[in-house]
Amino acid sequence: MNHSQGIFSLHCINLTLYLSQSSSSGIIKTAFNKTDTMSIPDLIKKKRDGGTLSDDEIKTFIESVANETIQECQTGAMLMAIWQKGMVDQETETLTREMMSSGEVMSWPEEWAGLVVDKHSTGGVGDKVSLVLAPALAACGCKVCVCQVPMISGRGLAHTGGTLDKLESIPGFSIHRSAAQIREILGSVGCCIVGQTETLVPADRVLYALRDATSTVDSLPLITGSIISKKGAESLSALVLDVKFGRAALYKDLESAKELAQSLVNAGNGLGVRTAAVLSRMDATIGRCVGNSLEVIESLETLKGNGPDDLMELVTTLGGLLLMLTGLAPDQSEGSRRISEAVIGGAALSKFRAMMEAQGVATETARLLCSAHSDYYSVLRKSEHQRELETPTDGVFEGVDGLVLAEVLHKLGAGRSKAGEPINHSVGAELLVSPGQRVGKGVSWLRIHYEDPVPTPDQIQRLQTALSLRPCDRPQTPQTQSLVEELLLPR
Ligand code: URA
Repeated sequence: MNHSQGIFSLHCINLTLYLSQSSSSGIIKTAFNKTDTMSIPDLIKKKRDGGTLSDDEIKTFIESVANETIQECQTGAMLMAIWQKGMVDQETETLTREMMSSGEVMSWPEEWAGLVVDKHSTGGVGDKVSLVLAPALAACGCKVCVCQVPMISGRGLAHTGGTLDKLESIPGFSIHRSAAQIREILGSVGCCIVGQTETLVPADRVLYALRDATSTVDSLPLITGSIISKKGAESLSALVLDVKFGRAALYKDLESAKELAQSLVNAGNGLGVRTAAVLSRMDATIGRCVGNSLEVIESLETLKGNGPDDLMELVTTLGGLLLMLTGLAPDQSEGSRRISEAVIGGAALSKFRAMMEAQGVATETARLLCSAHSDYYSVLRKSEHQRELETPTDGVFEGVDGLVLAEVLHKLGAGRSKAGEPINHSVGAELLVSPGQRVGKGVSWLRIHYEDPVPTPDQIQRLQTALSLRPCDRPQTPQTQSLVEELLLPR
């Protein structure tokens, strides 16, 4: 078979003929596979013209991607055809299943049946939910395997930080754990937060890189296949998705976020993973801190019972749903209550400490970070410089534009633009005022932590305009305090 011509056999009609030949050494059997063949160009054409690909056709495409027997240009063309024509639910489900099966599928001890869970967020500014939620769920009896793809920008999420980067600001914390080590940590601690192992869903690695290069990242079936195949390969019992919408989210409006959420929920449940989604507002920041070390500090404070309301709302909503989906709680509100108790009562903090140690952090470091009155900067690196921005006039603080804040911090080194690029964990910002707070002129409202590069006058100006004040005498526009807009439950 000449792979460069892209000819692949589909196993629709697989007629094997055996020709028996006499030879001096006996009978030689030669197999001829006579199949209905459909070439990769035919598959691309079918999708390009708006056709629906069959299960076998999708299987052929994904197998050829995973085996690297397809040309990159053909994969790129198929991605663009899918981007343009979309996929019906059945195609998306098959795509997801075939991607999942392209590599190792994890297995867990029988006694964990129904207990293995994970969560996924579509990316938010200051999104530190996993750092609090994973240990809280472990304290409630779940086995929590938060497996993440290391973040790079250029995937439409350039401005949001990755959970793995946040954890790597803790000296010694290793996100690299083999499948066997993950099993061990889940057995002893109950939660781990790790980078995706190389062997899981190899097809996604290829497709993800090419989606980036072909401007096909923002395709509903491709996003669904990418996210859910990796969750399926973790052999989860339950999964909860935090699908964000708003100014600082990938999806700006509720409707398009809901479409993605529904597609993810369908595909997850199609794989047999009890999957639900939360649609949450993402206009400002989650909590008050943005930047890797600063977010670890805010997460630890939350685990010590001093968390901001918006972060706690997300943690208890997502956690409550997972406890309900696993059957560990009779309903979501009881689940949320248990998660809140695990955080406020300190059980989640103990799990976080044990997780840090199991993932390479020295005992003394973990103890210092988890003690009641930690001097965080005796462990975490503090940036060389801080600068406080001040209110230009008096008024009532309305909020911050999370997108602008994150974009500026990214430029100051808090995020990376290419895989493997170093990041500066100490870069970030702290919001010093709360929405609805009355402030006078000249009050510090944002502290920036920076090193090299220093913020330019233009960046400072952008930050100042990202912070909004309304006159004290202007009546307050009704604001929804809750970040959670809607829940999508499995049917
Ligand atoms: N995260 C993924 O893993 N894949 C996507 O396509 C988008 C976000």
